Amino acid sequence: MPSKTSKTDALYHLECFDCKRVTKESESVTSCTKCGGPLVAKYDFAKIKSRINLYDIEHTPITGVKYLNFYPINDFEKVISLREGGTPLIRARNLGKKYKLNKLYLKNEGANPTGVFKDRGTLVEVTKAVELGAKAICLASTGNMAASVAAYSSIAGIPCYVLVPEGTPIGKLAQTLSYHARIIQVRGTYSDCAKLAEVMAKKHGFYLAGDYVFRREGQKSQGYEIVEQLFWKSPDYVVVPVGCGTNSAAIWQGFVDFKELGLINKLPKMIVVQPEGCNTVVDAAKHKKLKYKIVDKPISICSAVAAGTPLDGHIILKAVKDSGGFGVEVTDTEALIAQQSMAKNEGIFAEPSGALPMAAIKKLHEKKFFKPDDVIIAVITGNGLKDPVSATKILPSPPSIEPNIEEIDSYLKNKIYNIRGASADAAKKSLFKSKPTINKIKRVIEKDFDLKLNTKVVQKIQRELEEFISKGKNVTRYDFQNIVEDVVNAFTVKKKILEITDFKVAVSKKEPNRAEVEASYDGKILSSKAAGVGAFDAIMKAMQKIIRGQKGIKVTLQDFNVEIDEGGTDAVVKVTIVFTDEKSNKVVVSATSPDLIVASVNAFEKGYNLLWWKNKS
Ligand SMILES: *Cc1c(COP(=O)(O)O)cnc(C)c1O
Ligand SMILES: [Zn+2]
Repeated sequence: MPSKTSKTDALYHLECFDCKRVTKESESVTSCTKCGGPLVAKYDFAKIKSRINLYDIEHTPITGVKYLNFYPINDFEKVISLREGGTPLIRARNLGKKYKLNKLYLKNEGANPTGVFKDRGTLVEVTKAVELGAKAICLASTGNMAASVAAYSSIAGIPCYVLVPEGTPIGKLAQTLSYHARIIQVRGTYSDCAKLAEVMAKKHGFYLAGDYVFRREGQKSQGYEIVEQLFWKSPDYVVVPVGCGTNSAAIWQGFVDFKELGLINKLPKMIVVQPEGCNTVVDAAKHKKLKYKIVDKPISICSAVAAGTPLDGHIILKAVKDSGGFGVEVTDTEALIAQQSMAKNEGIFAEPSGALPMAAIKKLHEKKFFKPDDVIIAVITGNGLKDPVSATKILPSPPSIEPNIEEIDSYLKNKIYNIRGASADAAKKSLFKSKPTINKIKRVIEKDFDLKLNTKVVQKIQRELEEFISKGKNVTRYDFQNIVEDVVNAFTVKKKILEITDFKVAVSKKEPNRAEVEASYDGKILSSKAAGVGAFDAIMKAMQKIIRGQKGIKVTLQDFNVEIDEGGTDAVVKVTIVFTDEKSNKVVVSATSPDLIVASVNAFEKGYNLLWWKNKS
């Protein structure tokens, strides 16, 4: 095994992409000290050729560490690896058929150790940190790099500090915290975090990880692997999502390296994809510019690419131009639809950013851009489990049933799955602006969900719709799905012992909030009053008072959760309550409404009745 390379026969040097100034590693391993531009690694390819054994390269299985000779690593004994890379390249049979593409492939980067391609870059980056004797690592991240660098620095035994924008997806935070990184949430954007991390590193002498040269070098292996997996051929197109541009630039460099070494004889065209809310590079590419556009406040559900000042923007723009490629912009909804379609058709559950390439391919297919035999690679950058909440934005939650076959039968008979199976494309379509007639509702349900509901059920749906509309909201298709589900599911309640007939809440800034509730309990008319610190608290107390005086069951509220759900055009509130009784029966109920209190009342009523029925049966 080759060990240390002495400085005199250096395999590579670092230079600035913008001003070409050569930089020593002791000076900087991130940005040019003169102009601030990104550093790139330049290799002596004759030396690489003498280091590698082509026979070996062609006949050994792919992994990230297989290509150690192509990275700027001096000491192979310091390598920190989790066996990254070697990810599957999958022929997309179903989507290929749908888009009339015979050679559409998905490079599933979600299969990396921490669920994202970044592990390939982290392999080199953390190895270099060890090589350069780092006492601590710090970085800014939108979440995935945080988890990746945290994992590698943890096994290297180096403390890791991570700056993330507040609101980073929970899956990524949980992962990063588990790897024992020290996370700091910043009230700002990714760009704010990046600036701060740079200052923090300089001031405290930490090793700054991020979208810099070593990471880019490690991520080149995606390009190498694609060539190997296509049996030593280049594809025609590579479609990649872009945040900082580091990964797409790395993939391109992978192909360039292999061409330089004579392993392939042509290069693919790079198609870069961004969401509308952060179109830094795509907008520049559209105007044939080589300088990216800054986006001050990126807004997108594709949080992994929400970088308004892409560090490698200039590099990828040059690559797009050199390759003869271009950029594609897609909406968040298009990304979410692509996410669903990829999961459904190819079995790959990607996070929204990872679905951007498929959203672009769909658009290009609609414009008849591709030829049927074009070899197209979609780089599916990250695993969907990283950010499960975003997928549920267009997927209503599944029903809950009692553990008996009758409920299964009723589920199958009612075809409740048809409601949730309705296409995501139309989720935001406005269905009703004014109170619809019973027949109108029946028609929509029959046509859209292939369901026949009896008039009593439809009347209940009509009442719920009226409540929505009276709040001045349009009912979108998504809202409608939620309402129909709520109502159909509520009918599994055999007997309604508790019915909240009316309520009132008085809210004040200075005094406790007061709630009044009127209800019928087992046919008796009751009322109660309660005060609470908030409106929610007050109404909950008032409802608990009603049931406390009754001979029914002893109910405990174990937990509740309030979510603002923006699936429709207007926000709706989803209240979820966990109830238990003295026999340890448990029910979890949710209700949605434009109004927090209405949702809470509905959830409470539903939950109590379900638990009562469960307790008595
Ligand atoms: C980081 C990331 C990207 C963007 O990569 P850049 O190198 O920042 O362009 C895309 N998708 C996922 C899932 C990511 O984690
Ligand atoms: Zn420079």
